[in-house]
Amino acid sequence: MLSTMQETPLLISRILEHGRRIHGRSTVTTWTGEAEPHRRTFAEIGDRAAQLAHALREELGVTRESVVGTLMWNNAEHVEAYFALPSMGAVLHTLNLRLPAAQLAWIVRHAEDKVIIANGTVLPLLAPLLPQLPKVEHVVVSGAGDRSVLEGTGVRVHEYEELLAGRPTTYDWPELDEREAAALCYTSGTTGDPKGVLYSHRSVYLHSMQVNMTQSMGLTDRDTSLVVVPQFHVNAWGLPHATFMTGVNMLMPDRFLQPAPLAEMIESEHPTHAAAVPTIWQGLLAELTAKPRDVSSLGQVTIGGSACPPALMEAFDRLGMRVCHAWGMTETSPLGTVARPPAGADSPEEEWRYRLTQGRFPAGVEPRLIGPNGDVLPWDGESAGELEVRGSWIAGAYFGGTGKEPVRPEDKFSPDGWLRTGDVGVISADGFLTLTDRAKDVVKSGGEWISSVALENEIMAHPDVAEAAVIAVPDEKWGERPLATVVLKEGAAAGPAELRAFLAERVAKWQLPERWSVIESVPKTSVGKFDKKVLRARYAEDGLD
Ligand code: ADP
Repeated sequence: MLSTMQETPLLISRILEHGRRIHGRSTVTTWTGEAEPHRRTFAEIGDRAAQLAHALREELGVTRESVVGTLMWNNAEHVEAYFALPSMGAVLHTLNLRLPAAQLAWIVRHAEDKVIIANGTVLPLLAPLLPQLPKVEHVVVSGAGDRSVLEGTGVRVHEYEELLAGRPTTYDWPELDEREAAALCYTSGTTGDPKGVLYSHRSVYLHSMQVNMTQSMGLTDRDTSLVVVPQFHVNAWGLPHATFMTGVNMLMPDRFLQPAPLAEMIESEHPTHAAAVPTIWQGLLAELTAKPRDVSSLGQVTIGGSACPPALMEAFDRLGMRVCHAWGMTETSPLGTVARPPAGADSPEEEWRYRLTQGRFPAGVEPRLIGPNGDVLPWDGESAGELEVRGSWIAGAYFGGTGKEPVRPEDKFSPDGWLRTGDVGVISADGFLTLTDRAKDVVKSGGEWISSVALENEIMAHPDVAEAAVIAVPDEKWGERPLATVVLKEGAAAGPAELRAFLAERVAKWQLPERWSVIESVPKTSVGKFDKKVLRARYAEDGLD
């Protein structure tokens, strides 16, 4: 029997209109590097999103289903594009401005972007790419930066503010099918070509509701969230959409992502929440150690994207900032798990044990663990296998290109439609996930698996160590053995012998790396994660000696 309920589609335009009317006074503050940051209310953002939609349709010929690229930092204009494009029926395609140029060009061509909205400060990066992007016709430029680099590139250049000026501040948003595409984000392509994940209005809407739940980020209009995670990294983990539902104020760092301005932003704007990958926080910690500041407003810091080293969590606790660990990926929108200790875990030890896990699955994400023989494993906290997930905000395929069929590579999707995450771990009886490694990073030594992450976490607990990354290297006897690369803190002098002795007290003897290499910095991916692919290549070249 069918229900008698209304079937209002779950559309991003509704989130926008809700935010601008119900939470009209909430603000998006953009750091400018000048004395005063720039503030815009949700009501103003709503007006301007409508103006942008009019401009894109009437001046640039953007229609329903056009894919429009954004090459932007986190700022108010990027939030406007976040809402204007999907609301008018077009697709928001966030471009990762830290990708190698060839990869970025490949992505723009694959998505067939004809219009790119770019911040003026990133034009030096875009201009040299344009000759390889014959389909890009228009570049809309917002904010400071020299426009002259675009001269002679053949594209039509528009000023963002001039395009918006004088246009109507309302737009008759089309009544879309909630399953239509709203946003496109490519994985950062650690292996092979990048893959496009095409989110729907429905998936974004449901994901936003999940982000807002108390057991996820649980923020309200009394909060301010410092959104460090880039808007081009999985929709800034869903924050721009989620905040428009609840009125959470956003503090946007624009291009000021270095530890010193971040510390200054926290001290002067008092955000209560922040979200970013661990490497950002490692940098901030070093900054705060060198130059203490009052950062106590940050009651909650969401850390995800790669495993949060326990030493980092402890250090943040000491500064009064409570870390909440979360797991996800581009394909999962990204919210997959959040590590909030359950009722009953009241002692500090028990709380701590739960906080170190990747977290608990929400109702919308269904997990299963697959063992080496393809069996579904029990949730006993011990049986380790590859994590597969399914749910309403989980990708079921990759974008194949406009007018082309979606792509479902076998290594990414099971025959029965689950997403293969490539992450290896265990699930406890009460549904908490602990990841031991990425399948491709785990060290397979003599038939046993060694978790590179577990070794890194222990090494990073040594007071002289700033960063540690462990990779598998070929070994005649064992197949593979771990090699530990270590970055020392400034002025520190610990050598491999001392670090090995330190580690020997914490892990089984057969897991201890024989090979150690002190390096200047761990190479990072475009979204700030350890780039082990580069380390492996370096090892193949010169043995990392
Ligand atoms: P990329 O695959 O290029 O890194 P994503 O941002 O989609 O791009 O990365 C998703 C992956 O990041 C996950 O599959 C997982 O390996 C890792 N990851 C994310 N969050 C965590 C976490 N809290 N702990 C450990 N690994 C994590």
